[in-house]
Amino acid sequence: MNENKMNIKNILIVGAGFSGAVIARQLAEQGHVITVIDKREHIAGNSYDERDQKTDVMVHVYGPHIFHTDNEVVWNYVNKFSVMMPYINRVKATVRGQVFSLPINLHTINQFFSTTCSPDEAKNLISQKADKNITNPQTFEEQALSFIGSELYEAFFKGYTIKQWGMEPKDLPASILKRLPVRFNYDDNYFNHKYQGIPKDGYTQMIKNIFEHENITVRLNTNFCKDNVKEYDHVFYSGPLDEYFNYINGRLGYRTLDFEKGYYNGDYQGCAVMNYCSEDIPFTRITEHKYFSPWEKHEKSIYYKEYSRACTENDIPYYPIRQVGEMALLRDYLALAEKENNITFVGRLGTYRYLDMDVTIAEAMQTAEKYLDLLKTGETMPAFSVEVQ
Ligand code: FAD
Ligand code: UDP
Repeated sequence: MNENKMNIKNILIVGAGFSGAVIARQLAEQGHVITVIDKREHIAGNSYDERDQKTDVMVHVYGPHIFHTDNEVVWNYVNKFSVMMPYINRVKATVRGQVFSLPINLHTINQFFSTTCSPDEAKNLISQKADKNITNPQTFEEQALSFIGSELYEAFFKGYTIKQWGMEPKDLPASILKRLPVRFNYDDNYFNHKYQGIPKDGYTQMIKNIFEHENITVRLNTNFCKDNVKEYDHVFYSGPLDEYFNYINGRLGYRTLDFEKGYYNGDYQGCAVMNYCSEDIPFTRITEHKYFSPWEKHEKSIYYKEYSRACTENDIPYYPIRQVGEMALLRDYLALAEKENNITFVGRLGTYRYLDMDVTIAEAMQTAEKYLDLLKTGETMPAFSVEVQ
């Protein structure tokens, strides 16, 4: 056998979401033979979108997905496989019978407190409201109270967070809130990132294009079975970490989502995402999907009311909870994973982390690069190629 042939690896990738697709493509381009399996009947994982038959609107089936990143390499990557259309996420919130702009910005502050503050006046106002006794906020609640004070916290965050996470904000880490900015100008862009957009033909088409390579075979409706591992030189697994070990130590906690679909002749709410922050409204937000494709024209509309609840055995895991209890369990699974051979756990389920699409892509690129590097030196690919805890 010539040396080149000997170096060609037969690789299994479990999961056809962004993690699986990017690793598959990067390795296929280096001549390796890739089989991708997914238990679902479609590719693209949770980023899957499809055209609704009644309205022809592109629907984000597993919840609203907006691509945003500061990472130029990742931005160039997605632009190679799709036409990214300009899109700025501008979220609204219905609170106590009024509509406000999110994330909290000068407009929100002035409307909420019935003021006409300038940026400096608003900074003063909010700093008077902030709880100065909290110097080192640890919980979501402490973070909010020390940052914006109780009135804004109670109106915009408390009820929404209880609905979203099924627990009190005093029992959640501050990091969840740190994701959201507070602005003292009228900028209502939900994200701070340099690049933002939505693929013109959808995420599913983008991932289909990533898979379009002669060395890649994709098999849908195919569940992973542990016996598969020995048939391949290496496995990249983007399914749930605890499922791989048959939940031997128990289940890692997730929140799942239910979507209640509705149709409307015309414009239902006039924007893509409207949050409902009060606890007495059972859903967290309504997504009107046609607003994610402002370059298209649609008379009719489809919208999803989104409800969050604890994830049980038969549900789709969406948000990893990562409470203290889960972190102990996670460590048990990480230790088990380290003992496995020829398998690397990747992506949001394989590493039990909330990952945006850009981070998922960046990590998948790094993982493939690491595998290719280690092949050259003959070293073993580890169970995790990124920091997971
Ligand atoms: P997934 O997309 O979950 O893919 C994993 C795949 O593995 C699935 O297709 C699954 O069927 C398959 N699989 C699992 N187990 C098995 C098995 N045993 N055998 C075979 N196949 C298996 N990111 C953003 O950047 N912007 C957003 O606006 C955004 N919005 C989001 C909104 C919601 C509600 C959620 C939950 C996430 C959002 N994300 C967003 C994150 C985005 O969904 C993830 O970054 C992305 O899905 C991660 O890709 P992945 O390939 O790691 O996982
Ligand atoms: N949040 C809130 N009210 C809102 C929007 C967000 O309380 O109107 C909280 C909620 O706890 C959420 C967190 O802020 O989980 C992060 O918000 P983000 O929009 O990033 O939520 P995600 O995209 O994770 O659903």
